[in-house]
Amino acid sequence: MKQDTIAAIATAPGRGGVGVIRISGSNLLPFAFALTGKTPKARYATLADFRAGDGATIDSGLLLYFPAPHSFTGEDVLELQGHGGPVVMQMLLGRCLDLGARLAEPGEFSRRAFLNGKMDLAQAEAVADLIDAATASAARSAVRSLQGEFSRAIGELNAELINLRMLVEATLDFPEEEIDFLKAADAFGRLERLQRKLAEIFDRAGQGKLLQSGLHVVLVGQPNVGKSSLLNRLAGDELAIVTPIAGTTRDALRSTIQIAGIPLHIIDTAGLRETDDEVERIGIARTWQEIERADVVLLLVDARAGIADADRAILARMPERLQRITVHNKIDLLAQAPERHPESDGIAISLSAKANLGIDLLRQELLRIAGWHQTEDVFIARERHLRALASAQGHVAAARAIVESGFPALELFAEELRLAQQALGEITGEFTADDLLGVIFSRFCIGK
Ligand code: GDP
Ligand code: ZN
Repeated sequence: MKQDTIAAIATAPGRGGVGVIRISGSNLLPFAFALTGKTPKARYATLADFRAGDGATIDSGLLLYFPAPHSFTGEDVLELQGHGGPVVMQMLLGRCLDLGARLAEPGEFSRRAFLNGKMDLAQAEAVADLIDAATASAARSAVRSLQGEFSRAIGELNAELINLRMLVEATLDFPEEEIDFLKAADAFGRLERLQRKLAEIFDRAGQGKLLQSGLHVVLVGQPNVGKSSLLNRLAGDELAIVTPIAGTTRDALRSTIQIAGIPLHIIDTAGLRETDDEVERIGIARTWQEIERADVVLLLVDARAGIADADRAILARMPERLQRITVHNKIDLLAQAPERHPESDGIAISLSAKANLGIDLLRQELLRIAGWHQTEDVFIARERHLRALASAQGHVAAARAIVESGFPALELFAEELRLAQQALGEITGEFTADDLLGVIFSRFCIGK
């Protein structure tokens, strides 16, 4: 299928030493010639002047040409490496549009790569997750998925399902042999192994999902109880980073630190005050939306004073399902060792941010709530992958129940296997509806 030509600035907006424009389409040599007066050699860097319609030079830089199918998208791809100024990049992009390209939609290059079989859906998503990675651990596991480890694991499960299905289909015509068949094929043992493997992959993907999305923590505490001190302490030696989540701007109400590679997204309720400022109000409304999706509320109090009325008021507005950790800070100022704090709900921890006492307890508690237990072999994953894996698990369990029922109905058995396979196929994109693809790729950045 002949695709139209798309172009986009692939480098981040703003100033930079180099700016890259990526173009993908079919038959791009005439395009390159019109732009530079040169015919680039495949996969060589060609020094060229990028020319406007009137022949004036817009910029000079490197021209790269990747002929189909050996390119990122599987189509002809051109890369223009110019100087990374916003104006010169816009001029160069404008020239590409004049030459017949159209502006690429977000994720359109990756979408074409997927449609042309250069990578499967899980790999394409890993590209976006690598770009959005909030910690080094998240980036490492995204690369693992990008290189196909996740997809290969899914592929192995698939191969076993197919094997079993072929055996079943071959027997379906001879109903009187059903029970013998199931025994002979060791259907039970195979299903058991499948379940074990599925559970293992579900676990690794669950850890990957955690690395990708992190733990969302609502921080509650009066001024001066030590919130900033505690966050700095928690971030510890690991680089404390602040990353805007894709598509949103960073604001004072949120910050991201990491513990053990897990992004910890902190929503600070100190900013949730009454205000007449329209912009601030929008920010506050958004913060409340995020609180709806949070995992934990971390209540910080001065160990000498305990929970304040103002704390109780704001806690009362939190969703009830949130887990709660109450942290009694500044225990270094207590005359005697802290008594255990009986809490009606949640967990209490006594520590001193300033004196660095008890911080590890809190760190461990947060990791426990997050469900983190693995550091190696994780592949980045998303909620939709976990849902698909869970669905596959359900169908394999149903297939096993049929085998165990004593009156095994092979048609039903085969159908459950087919459904399990289909669920796995949604992960790699074999069985993914077009509208879902649209949603997935629209969240990518432009130029990717
Ligand atoms: P925030 O307003 O809640 O962010 O509180 P800060 O982190 O800015 O801390 C307020 C003050 O309390 C600062 O002077 C900190 O040095 C001090 N502080 C924080 N944690 C401790 C602690 O564990 N012990 C003592 N003695 N002082 C602390
Ligand atoms: Zn502070």
